[in-house]
Amino acid sequence: MEAFSANLGNRRIEVVRGDIVKERVDAIVNAANSTLLGGGGVDGAIHRAAGPDLLEECRGLDGCGTGDAKITRGYRLSARFVIHAVGPIYRGGQEGEAQLLDATYRRCMVIAAEHRLQSLAFPAISTGAYGYPRREAAGIAFRRLLQELRSETTVERVRYVLFDASAFETHEEVLRELLTKRS
Ligand code: ADP
Repeated sequence: MEAFSANLGNRRIEVVRGDIVKERVDAIVNAANSTLLGGGGVDGAIHRAAGPDLLEECRGLDGCGTGDAKITRGYRLSARFVIHAVGPIYRGGQEGEAQLLDATYRRCMVIAAEHRLQSLAFPAISTGAYGYPRREAAGIAFRRLLQELRSETTVERVRYVLFDASAFETHEEVLRELLTKRS
């Protein structure tokens, strides 16, 4: 199976290959756009799987800023909630993209703790249509997620879900590097 996981005390981070809409966790994170009214990529897949009630709830949220996130119910998904996160569009790296991507992951973890969630599944935010270089984005994502999992939080398990084989390989490599650097 294509999966890699690491324990951090009683917390755990898992990198897996798969389709995030099938994840059985408390919340899946959506790589949304700032309208929160649906889009392509993972956003489209989540809305299709959750059904029309998800869009209805999103219409009431008045959008979401870049680097921020908002939570809704999961409707027909196995996940009870969806955290809609808006990562930055990559414009060359000199426009605060790294800080914004980091803030996006941080906000998701804050919202998860506020709702006392224990398990989350993330996609590789900003690395599709938003063009963020994959390896750089993976480093930002995992540094933040590891830091949050080593801090006070209700979240015990983070799954990081990659759709394709080469994305999975890069993410596994980046996480392994970060884990060995520290120990
Ligand atoms: P963004 O606009 O934030 O870049 P995208 O949805 O275009 O978001 O892409 C984000 C990542 O999600 C990409 O790496 C893409 O391959 C991946 N992806 C697309 N569909 C799925 C899915 N069903 N499950 C997991 N990851 C997915």
